[in-house]
Amino acid sequence: MKIIMLGAPGAGKGTQAKKIADQFQIPHISTGDIFRANIKEGTELGRKAKEYMDQGLLVPDSLTLELIMDRFQNPDCANGYVLDGFPRTIPQAEALTEALKEQGESIDFAIDVEVPDENIISRMSGRRACLACGATYHIVHIPTKKEGVCDRCGEGLVLREDDKPETVKKRLDVYHEQTQPLIDYYAGQKKLVRVDGTQEMEEVFQAIVKILGA
Ligand code: ADP
Ligand code: ADP
Ligand code: ZN
Repeated sequence: MKIIMLGAPGAGKGTQAKKIADQFQIPHISTGDIFRANIKEGTELGRKAKEYMDQGLLVPDSLTLELIMDRFQNPDCANGYVLDGFPRTIPQAEALTEALKEQGESIDFAIDVEVPDENIISRMSGRRACLACGATYHIVHIPTKKEGVCDRCGEGLVLREDDKPETVKKRLDVYHEQTQPLIDYYAGQKKLVRVDGTQEMEEVFQAIVKILGA
């Protein structure tokens, strides 16, 4: 099963992708998580990516594609994957289509998690991330058992630098300009499915499970 999560920043792609990955026993691949891990480790890739991420801009396609194509070589991708935050531009989507085509494959579903812009700012300002294990919470909607501490691994949680309202506005502009066109791209490939992302986390997941026929 090869799944792409589409949707605005903060729509709940990561939250749902983790649940899908658990249910189907496939890896959850988040380009944002990979970039953040590189920043944390102080790699060259991390240094380059940070310049763009801090401004709410996309990391250039060439850098992103190099990273993801390398990730696909990992044996854990043999049974598919759920992609979260990739592709984010038409050239990235075309490169993915081509790479899969060469192996006689294609993606199964592109799931658009629909949440209006009005809801995004509050989602993002309440988001708390664990940089150690990648878990995400929300101070109101998806709280941790103990405030500020990851339920999964016990590390401290952070408000991401790029989740501050000014940067979120920029990221939403970038989303509408560069990523939203992917909705038409995957509709054209007859791969697009839509879910209402304003529902409770568990309801969104049930809607997805129904679509995936599990
Ligand atoms: P969110 O889950 O809130 O949408 P991500 O963690 O997916 O945020 O991404 C954070 C940032 O990492 C993006 O704003 C962008 O700068 C960079 N990034 C992640 N994935 C990509 C990608 N496929 N192409 C370009 N930049 C990316
Ligand atoms: P994305 O990966 O699309 O940027 P996340 O999965 O990180 O989005 O979710 C953004 C924020 O909204 C997080 O704080 C998350 O805990 C919260 N969230 C996710 N799904 C829901 C939901 N269905 N209802 C309310 N809050 C949610
Ligand atoms: Zn954690």
